[in-house]
Amino acid sequence: MTSNREMIERDLKAVWHPCTQMKDHETLPLIPFKRGEGVWLYDFDGNRYIDAVSSWWVNLFGHANPRINEAINQQTQQLEHAMLAGFTHEPVIDLSERLIDVTPEGLNRCFYADNGSSAIEVALKMSYHYFRNTGKPEKKNFINISNSYHGETLGALALSDVGLYRETYEPLLMEMLTAPAPDAFYREKGESWEDYALRQFEHMEKLMAENADNVCAVIVEPLVQCAGHMRMYDPIYLKKLREACDRYNIHLIADETAVGFGRTGTLFACEQAGISPDFMCLSKGLTAGYLPLSITMTTDDVFEAFYDDFETMKAFLHSHSYTGNPIGCAVARATLDIFRDDNVIESNREKARIMGESVEHLREHPHVGDIRQHGMILAMELVKDKATMEPFPWQERRGLRVYQHSITREALLRPLGNVTYFMPPYVINEDQIRHLATVATEGIDKATRD
Ligand SMILES: *Cc1c(COP(=O)(O)O)cnc(C)c1O
Repeated sequence: MTSNREMIERDLKAVWHPCTQMKDHETLPLIPFKRGEGVWLYDFDGNRYIDAVSSWWVNLFGHANPRINEAINQQTQQLEHAMLAGFTHEPVIDLSERLIDVTPEGLNRCFYADNGSSAIEVALKMSYHYFRNTGKPEKKNFINISNSYHGETLGALALSDVGLYRETYEPLLMEMLTAPAPDAFYREKGESWEDYALRQFEHMEKLMAENADNVCAVIVEPLVQCAGHMRMYDPIYLKKLREACDRYNIHLIADETAVGFGRTGTLFACEQAGISPDFMCLSKGLTAGYLPLSITMTTDDVFEAFYDDFETMKAFLHSHSYTGNPIGCAVARATLDIFRDDNVIESNREKARIMGESVEHLREHPHVGDIRQHGMILAMELVKDKATMEPFPWQERRGLRVYQHSITREALLRPLGNVTYFMPPYVINEDQIRHLATVATEGIDKATRD
């Protein structure tokens, strides 16, 4: 029988892992997975772990989900792939129609790519190109907010403000106009999330007013800055931003790559602000954690600015080899079926409530500075000093210690710096949520003891 050890040895000779200092694996063992089922992942030694972070925020309905497996089987027997330039197929048509129905009003066009970063690149290029096509080529800058994350390709990275990923490549990146985030973590004592978001919006408004002539789009992650340590904000900010974008003739790009498909408690986070963006980027949960697929959705207004005779050279000439892959689209269609048939958003409400309740006691913990939640995302931030909110030095890797404890207790609480979070597949049950809370409590105690 193959063991973890054997797999690790082979892996470390051949594979270069993403987002990893490979030398860490001299002391932190890789975990090789053999199979998955529901919320569980199983390694080669027979240990199992609750996938508390949905395998990097992609999995929605558990591993090896029979309904998604079936959708893949059926589609592979029909058509595995065909190019989407000049040709089309049923899964891509179905999926586009279905998404237009369930996304905020006005998003009537779907442009396909195969990962979140590429969906962002499409939105950037389309927004700039829209203004070029409509006689405003000077609108070519972008506004983002601090602590934002939009992916790793150079364009998407330029829009990101998470230093860890960005700093090294700074000389290669487009310049951004950055407004300070509405992140409720920094509100004053006694100040509400909403009041703080309104106060922070004044900086954004000023930046937009001063640069309106040269800015084509503002990009935000609606409600939760996931890679930016699961920092959260009030929906009022999005409402204000939508109004200002209209006032200054600037596009609003909603990056729902991570928060889309129910994570924040509604199918899309924008719904909580009652707004429609000009571009909405979708990936990750789009295929329930099965296949790489992404979509940039946009409006009739944007689409029409490109629609003209060929010689006018207004077309959007962008593509990826696997654009609109039929198997990916069939999986995404099955994902929407499950949301509808199982009333997922509704039943997640009770699960979200249990998640919140299960860690309530940690609010009293001397090193838990903040517990925040939007729907099915719950984050606990460790601090050195609760009175001043002074963080633990990042070099101490406290969050990692929580993780190291978790893997001895059948859970994968992979941290973001000093933040431990739950973002589980929606098939998690009450006992499993309570187990995660127990493991998090033990891990946080251990990680903050000295
Ligand atoms: C993950 C993520 C991306 C990038 O998606 P990839 O598929 O990893 O390229 C972009 N934006 C947000 C908000 C993300 O969380």
